[in-house]
Amino acid sequence: MSCLVVKFGGTSVATIERVMHVARRIQKEKEKGYDIIVVVSAMGKATDMLVDMAHEIMPNPSKREMDTLLTTGEQVTSSLLSIALQSLGLRAQSFTGWQAGVLTEAVPADARILDIQPENVRDALGRGRIAVVAGFQGVDDKNNITTLGRGGSDTTAVALAVALGAKRCDIFTDVDGVYTSDPRYVPKARKLQELSYDEMLELANLGAGVLHPRAVEYAKNYNIPLAVRSSYVADEGTIMREEVEVEKGLVVRGIAFKSDIIRLTVSYDANYNGSLANIFTILADSHINVDLIVQTIIEGVEPSVSFSIIKENLADTIRVLEENKSKLGYSHVHIEENLAKVSIVGSGIVSNPGVAAKMFDRLHRENILVKMVSTSEIKISVVIPQEAMLHAANALHDEFELAASLAIQA
Ligand code: ADP
Ligand code: ASP
Ligand code: MG
Repeated sequence: MSCLVVKFGGTSVATIERVMHVARRIQKEKEKGYDIIVVVSAMGKATDMLVDMAHEIMPNPSKREMDTLLTTGEQVTSSLLSIALQSLGLRAQSFTGWQAGVLTEAVPADARILDIQPENVRDALGRGRIAVVAGFQGVDDKNNITTLGRGGSDTTAVALAVALGAKRCDIFTDVDGVYTSDPRYVPKARKLQELSYDEMLELANLGAGVLHPRAVEYAKNYNIPLAVRSSYVADEGTIMREEVEVEKGLVVRGIAFKSDIIRLTVSYDANYNGSLANIFTILADSHINVDLIVQTIIEGVEPSVSFSIIKENLADTIRVLEENKSKLGYSHVHIEENLAKVSIVGSGIVSNPGVAAKMFDRLHRENILVKMVSTSEIKISVVIPQEAMLHAANALHDEFELAASLAIQA
């Protein structure tokens, strides 16, 4: 029998009433004759509340204990939803990540899935049960419980869809699809009916929190049809696929933004002749993600390298730089906080010269100072002061006429 993976996010299961609503929705899918695997997130803000509790005890709790703590949120939802399904007369069984065979790297807080061995889930499906899997979690080779990074339940869902050969994976959430920008902050944002995996991957990586980036990566690599849909409204939502028809004349498809970006500038003595790249090997070995990099080497001027990181990595980055100061041979580090990154994304960017100029010109006219720039074939990102982030996103949304397209309507 063909199977479907459906995932319900935190807001969609925030109360018992909503859990019951989700159960009834699943009942309808089950009645269509599919085997159903449900992946759930923690209820409402449960994960944040667990984080806050640990931080009440100490500012930097052990990552291993944080992983164990945070996974309890998803476990609560998976058993409550199983009970809700059973109350409707359906057969259902809950699974933690490890019970579902989700094997991950031994990287606390941000582990990648290495393999899924879903025998238990398959067995439950074979017995006519709906499998309800706690998202966001797995187990490493030493049986430590791991988590997949904030928002990681999406990735559990797509990875299970791949492992079980599901027909499709539907991510049910509190918006009815992927919009040209976050509709919560860009009021003119418009729903997209479809989007290429690559565009969605860029948007997700650049801050569009609607999907976990690794979920999109999986869906792309294994060509799993992936949809973002509303938990409340019956609608097809937005479908992600390999190729989509480019909207007429629309070069930019979406705008993403991310706050709490920090720029570090590491300066060396004028006579330094080592590789400025060494720093990135050391940071990578410590699992610190570096985003934009700008290296400045001008004769007679102190060489320097600036790079951006997210706020959560600041303490670790400073520690790693300090520990390796003599090895790296730098003279000082300058830290600039309260920055944000705003990005425009679209497959058409590569073949349309002038997009960057148009972006910079609009930001200049809005008096927004651009501090760093990065481009790829399908995106242009700028780092700007944080207080200008939403202003920039809305202005660029207007500049690239994202609200106005007639080709695809909500
Ligand atoms: P869930 O708890 O269901 O996983 P999330 O909060 O992770 O939900 O994702 C849904 C939210 O993503 C929406 O409420 C919306 O504010 C935000 N979002 C950010 N960018 C976009 C976008 N481009 N399109 C739609 N929603 C977006
Ligand atoms: N509960 C986790 C979080 O809040 C994972 C998820 O919702 O996908 O980040
Ligand atoms: Mg999410």
